[in-house]
Amino acid sequence: MNTNKKILLIVAFMLIALAAATIINIALNFRSFSYKSAIEKSEITAVMVRDGLTSHMVNGVMNKRKFFLKNISNYDGVEALWIVRSPAVIKQYGPGLIREKPKDKIDNKVLQTGKMEKLITENSDIAKLRVSIPYTANSFDTPDCLSCHNVQEGDVLGVISMEFDISHTRNHGMLTIFKIFALNVIFIIIALFLTNHFFKPYMRIFSDLTDMITHANSGDFSHRITRKISGDGAEVVSQINQLFTNMQDTFGELKSNLTTFVSRSNFSCSDPLEESKTIIHELSDVYKFKKTIELDPNKDAIYERVYYILKEKFGITRFSFFEVNKSTKERTLLYSTEDENFCMHNTMANALECRAVRTDVDVISTDFSDLCQNCKSKESEYTCIPFNINKDVSIVISILSEDKNKLDVVNKHISTIKSYLDAMKPVLESRILMEKLRDSSLRDGLTGLYNRRFLEEYIDQEQAHILREKINYDIMMIDIDFFKLVNDNYGHDIGDSVIKALSNILQASIRDSDMAIRYGGEEFLILLRRTTSEATMKIASNIHSAFKQQKFAAGNETIEKTLSIGIARLPEDGDSIWKVIKYADTALYSAKNTGRDKIVEFTSDMFEEY
Ligand code: GH3
Ligand code: MG
Ligand code: MG
Repeated sequence: MNTNKKILLIVAFMLIALAAATIINIALNFRSFSYKSAIEKSEITAVMVRDGLTSHMVNGVMNKRKFFLKNISNYDGVEALWIVRSPAVIKQYGPGLIREKPKDKIDNKVLQTGKMEKLITENSDIAKLRVSIPYTANSFDTPDCLSCHNVQEGDVLGVISMEFDISHTRNHGMLTIFKIFALNVIFIIIALFLTNHFFKPYMRIFSDLTDMITHANSGDFSHRITRKISGDGAEVVSQINQLFTNMQDTFGELKSNLTTFVSRSNFSCSDPLEESKTIIHELSDVYKFKKTIELDPNKDAIYERVYYILKEKFGITRFSFFEVNKSTKERTLLYSTEDENFCMHNTMANALECRAVRTDVDVISTDFSDLCQNCKSKESEYTCIPFNINKDVSIVISILSEDKNKLDVVNKHISTIKSYLDAMKPVLESRILMEKLRDSSLRDGLTGLYNRRFLEEYIDQEQAHILREKINYDIMMIDIDFFKLVNDNYGHDIGDSVIKALSNILQASIRDSDMAIRYGGEEFLILLRRTTSEATMKIASNIHSAFKQQKFAAGNETIEKTLSIGIARLPEDGDSIWKVIKYADTALYSAKNTGRDKIVEFTSDMFEEY
């Protein structure tokens, strides 16, 4: 029920209640008034009858009383009139001319008590008033009753009973009440009409306003009050409409400004306020993420944050994280929730086999059947998101899901995930650049081998480790014999190519756990970890003979060169790497001094010799 109807109902209820109370009050008052006046009339009539009968008695014409009584009976409203003699009068004068005996209990009661009795009898058709008045003997009035009657003072001589028809009084009252009722109905109708006329426009505006606020609560600020209203209401309506126009403009602008910070292409909420709140929340999360990774030490720590965000924030339970080296086209699996890589092996050696890398477009398996032919997992659905970091590196996030519905839920987060990746990109770029710079400062530009600076950093870290773990190291110092002559005779470029060739031989001759370092101009150091003297000697002689056999082109000529190699051991020869390097250099010096082109192992007596 709308408010207008409620107001009308309340007004109607109040008016009807007021009218009913008035009518009931009038009806009750009217009834008691009309009965009172009928009783008074009957009492006067009874007194007239008593006085009339007394005069008949005094004048000795009591036998004419019938005529008198008949005349009284003809009075308006008198329906019946009879007189009753008391037993004392009957005893003295007989029963009388007419039947003057008690008619009913009321007559008897009045004879006994000497008190007037009244009785109103009503039904739907008629209303009657019965009055019985006693006629008592007294000696102080004229005539003196006791002079004629053998009774005591105050004894009842008789009763005068009458019945009045008071229906017309009642009918008159009912007619009056009906008129009042009719007037009330007319008044109520007019009052309701005026109330409705006055309130209805306001109620309609109120209902429009309710509608507007309901839509605004769900984010739709486009509704307005279009009904016309005059007076004060018009100003209120205009102000409210203006307020909603301002809100619509402000929230729309706020939303479009915020979406430039966070990509939310798949956002379904139409409430700009709600959407702005969510965007601000996301912006704040992304900002916190960015601030955090800015303080992370390296690329791996940043990647770990991304795994955490995917798991904890987006609730993604199955995914893999790949890094792509754009120069070599290699793809490396950095992290996976799965035991087995769900991409075919060929995608690792050649990243272009990965559809996401090749197309640089999100690959969503539900878009097309068997979309990526290099996905092993035929039962699951997947979304692979490629993301470019810089000209050398890109990443791929591959998300797996059991069914389409679950993948749809994950896909709703893609744009937000990309907001995180966007925030990560500049930080990661700078970390990659720093790592590259650092790596280049630790490597030799000509050979690509680690340089002496690296050796210094490495040894500081490794020394404690060696002592704790009791690791043995064999160290080889290698120098090209009479290298200066190459430069002098064939030029620096030919000299460079010889150095490069030696570095290739070194790298090819050692294990992954060993390390080749360009120690000086044409001096190389080899660190062999956890080895035996036999294995070291074998590697040294391999290097020695491989280099010796290699022929270097120098214009029309070919050059052959030899190596001198010094070897020392940790812990046998010394307890620190630096000491052992020094001893290997001593052994090399010994090789040079004893004819070159040879491998010499350090012995403690070499100090005395040189
Ligand atoms: P030895 O048998 O005693 O070692 O004789 P050597 O001529 O090799 O003597 P030494 O080791 O003192 O000479 C090293 C030469 O290597 C000196 C330098 O001009 C040259 N050299 C150092 N670095 C480079 C380089 O990067 N390229 C070229 N082409 N030459 C280099
Ligand atoms: Mg040399
Ligand atoms: Mg040298």
